[in-house]
Amino acid sequence: MRTIIIFLFCLSFLSTRAQTKAVKIMQNNVDRPKLVVGIVVDQMRWDFLYKYYTRYASNGGFKRMMQQGFSFDNTIIPYMPTVTGCGHASVYTGSVPAINGIVGNNWPEGEGMVYCSEDKTVKGVGTTTASGQMSPRKMLTTSVCDELKLATNFRSKIVGIALKDRGSILPAGHSADAAYWYEPKAGNWISSTHYMDTLPKWVNDFNAVKWQNNFYKKGWNTMYDIQSYSQSSKDVQDYEAKPLGKDQLGFPYDLRRFEDNNYDAIIKTPFGNSFTLAFAKAAIEHDNLGKDSVTDFLAISFSSPDYIGHSFGPNSIEIEDTYLRLDQELGAFFDYLDAAVGKSAYLSFLTADHGVAHVPAFMLQHKIPAGIIDDNQLSDSLNIYLKKKFNAEKMVQFIHNYQLYLNQKVLDSMQLSKDDIKVICIDFLRNQKGIDRVFDLEEMMEIPLPTSVREQIVNGYHPKRSGDIQIILNPGWIDGGKAGTTHGLWNPYDSHIPLLWYGWHIPKGSTSEEVYMTDIAATVSALLHIQMPNGSVGKSLVPFMKSK
Ligand code: ZN
Ligand code: ZN
Repeated sequence: MRTIIIFLFCLSFLSTRAQTKAVKIMQNNVDRPKLVVGIVVDQMRWDFLYKYYTRYASNGGFKRMMQQGFSFDNTIIPYMPTVTGCGHASVYTGSVPAINGIVGNNWPEGEGMVYCSEDKTVKGVGTTTASGQMSPRKMLTTSVCDELKLATNFRSKIVGIALKDRGSILPAGHSADAAYWYEPKAGNWISSTHYMDTLPKWVNDFNAVKWQNNFYKKGWNTMYDIQSYSQSSKDVQDYEAKPLGKDQLGFPYDLRRFEDNNYDAIIKTPFGNSFTLAFAKAAIEHDNLGKDSVTDFLAISFSSPDYIGHSFGPNSIEIEDTYLRLDQELGAFFDYLDAAVGKSAYLSFLTADHGVAHVPAFMLQHKIPAGIIDDNQLSDSLNIYLKKKFNAEKMVQFIHNYQLYLNQKVLDSMQLSKDDIKVICIDFLRNQKGIDRVFDLEEMMEIPLPTSVREQIVNGYHPKRSGDIQIILNPGWIDGGKAGTTHGLWNPYDSHIPLLWYGWHIPKGSTSEEVYMTDIAATVSALLHIQMPNGSVGKSLVPFMKSK
């Protein structure tokens, strides 16, 4: 009897083995999701996940990702300047400005400034304006989307979508099928000849509807009773900018005035996110993303939170309302993906390109140190000072991204030593209020600085594109004007970003281990079994996400 049982057991074991083998042969594909959806929220501080946590909907986007996915609660940007171009490039290249070359949104080149995604060799598609002359050509490395293309012999479909061109173009990479961005004058989604010769019919059809007017008709009022926004300052503050008209001082914002005549206004409202998502859905549908056995990639960036945040600051009702709305819209988007692609058939991550500082005047109201310097004023007064000394015009070309660029042409014509001028500039700047450190970038390894800050400066320094002198402001200080706020420095409010993973093969969990923006592309690469981007310095976070 015992022998029979053992025999039967062996038989069943063998047949299970045979079945497993058969299944493996049938599934002889690399295990990959059908679609990867990369989401960047422009200017989203990490603390927004928790500041508004109790107000996020249980079926919304943020709570769903936090409760059913994996949250890296201590994700840091390992370079400065913490600005949009650098952030989008770094998330998707797993690299830093020192290597991918995207050292800012703009940087000086020759006599003037170049823009991170400009490309004068291409033409706009869907527009005749310069807004269309864009490509990822200035990015020196591959994006993880390029690597997916290479891994599948270019059979994967890659689409980038954002109102801001750089938020769409840099993530989608060099070999993308399409990147679409917004041309606010005519109010159309456009592209460039880097990707295509004409817009697909579905894009023209989408543009023809002029969805913006539907949002304008509704206006922008708070989603809930304004009294319930207890996590934000009272509406209407002197330090707020007025992006929706000088006469519009707070909720409710009348947007009807923009109907059929101002397609730019939508980007400064939460409806910019709704508009982006509507376009993303149309792209999924018409470009058949996530429909076959080859993995596709949709890279979305929500630009509007950045415009709103710059104007009103992170403690405003406008920002709270923007995130409560985005949460619900992301929830609906995930429902849509569940139906269109399949639950657990897509992999999604959500992060930010940078955070933002509180408005200095708001901080001062609460007795917290803060302040404002003005880069342009600073370079003007330094140039006046240098003119008195050397009788030469414009020796400082720019102060930009907290770096000073000397005017090499002027120095050469005067036969002046760059090192001597640097010393004079540093002495001048050192005495300015709000400036914490200022030093020669060639000497950054010798300057006494905390290791992590030095690393951020080293990682942000590209010898052919960066400046000559680094300026670091006191914490809480920004380069700006009377109204609003900005980002760009090493401080946690600028460099601490959310990182949530959700969907295909992602277990529930969270960690407060310190990880980096540059780890995102390496993680996508590891999950997809593809090569990491060619300038990647990040590490895969997959080991953290093993189910317990
Ligand atoms: Zn940004
Ligand atoms: Zn910004």
